[in-house]
Amino acid sequence: MDDILARLRGCLPQGEGPWPLHEPSFQGHEWAYVKDCLDSGWVSSVGAYVDRFESALSSYTGVAHAVATVNGTAALHIALLVAGVEPGDEVLVPALTFVATSNAIRYCQATPHFIAADESDLGPDPQALDAYLREILVEIDGQACNAFTGKPLRALVAMHSFGHPNRLDALAEICSRYGLTLVEDAAEALGTRYQGLHVGHWGRVAALSFNGNKIITTGGGGAVLTNDQDLARRARHLATTAKVAGHRELFHDETGFNYRMPNLNAALGLAQMEALNDLLRRKRMLAQRYQEAFVDCSDARFVEEPPDADSNYWLNTLLVGEGVRDALLDRAEKLGIQARPAWTLQHRLPMYRYCPSMEMTATERLAARIVNLPSSPNLVGED
Ligand SMILES: *Cc1c(COP(=O)(O)O)cnc(C)c1O
Repeated sequence: MDDILARLRGCLPQGEGPWPLHEPSFQGHEWAYVKDCLDSGWVSSVGAYVDRFESALSSYTGVAHAVATVNGTAALHIALLVAGVEPGDEVLVPALTFVATSNAIRYCQATPHFIAADESDLGPDPQALDAYLREILVEIDGQACNAFTGKPLRALVAMHSFGHPNRLDALAEICSRYGLTLVEDAAEALGTRYQGLHVGHWGRVAALSFNGNKIITTGGGGAVLTNDQDLARRARHLATTAKVAGHRELFHDETGFNYRMPNLNAALGLAQMEALNDLLRRKRMLAQRYQEAFVDCSDARFVEEPPDADSNYWLNTLLVGEGVRDALLDRAEKLGIQARPAWTLQHRLPMYRYCPSMEMTATERLAARIVNLPSSPNLVGED
């Protein structure tokens, strides 16, 4: 434990802490663009910055369409709806995720079906998932269904834990084999690539988040990404209260949502997009520092980017020995090192306790070993 703390301290800047888990960095045009919104009066849900921010997202990721939303949860909700998730469906989703992923499934009146996490990348192990699906799937009228509940298994949500991409090629193959739609919860993974392609390319549709603690922030915000023009159009429609253009009186053709990102937030986002490459460079330098510090440590393993991946290292992550985490978190806090455990696994939350689930013993032991480390880009200097 002393050894782990000493190595951690050595990765952080000289001087007094505290060193927060993740702080935003505003060093570019943030003030100027937000001021421009205020000066022009265009602060709300229409305005040029929304278009410019969406263009910046799609040109950066290479995904053809981006629809900016009020937050990542709203983006996920819309992504699942346009992916065809319907009331009564089941949606496969990692148990190791933030609650928003499960909540968005419930907003569609579908049921989360929890899948296990693998130690290597903290995402699903495609082989284990495939074996599980072979066991539980039956085909009813050409639709893959859960043999135990009789419900259609509609989609699989990949989630790139702490910025490390899932094995998306293998997951996409499983989805096409069983007729599932792949949706990516890429909330933590702006800037992350897998096999050279930015995340969001592999799913039919993906969601990003720009919450204050993510790699870039719009205050609150999110975006739906998709290469499918029809899905993009539908996402935009649903997020804009399903308003139909060309009517003098406001006309809406279904129950939509007030989910569009305001111009004020998009102005912040555009400035952050301009800084993204620099933020990524600094985060990867910090990750390299942690990685080198723990390379020969027998009591903890630093989670490195998977093979074939360029991770954004949103939150640096250490796997410690069983039963060590809580004492380590307490002692780190006293030293001003703001570390954090993983989320409570979804199948342990009261509202999701009765949802279908893979065997979770190994995932529970794994999750209890996770420690997220201070990861702000400003922990690395300008050099
Ligand atoms: C941050 C996050 C979201 C969305 O969060 P918002 O706060 O709604 O922007 C969704 N899923 C995961 C895994 C996240 O980390």
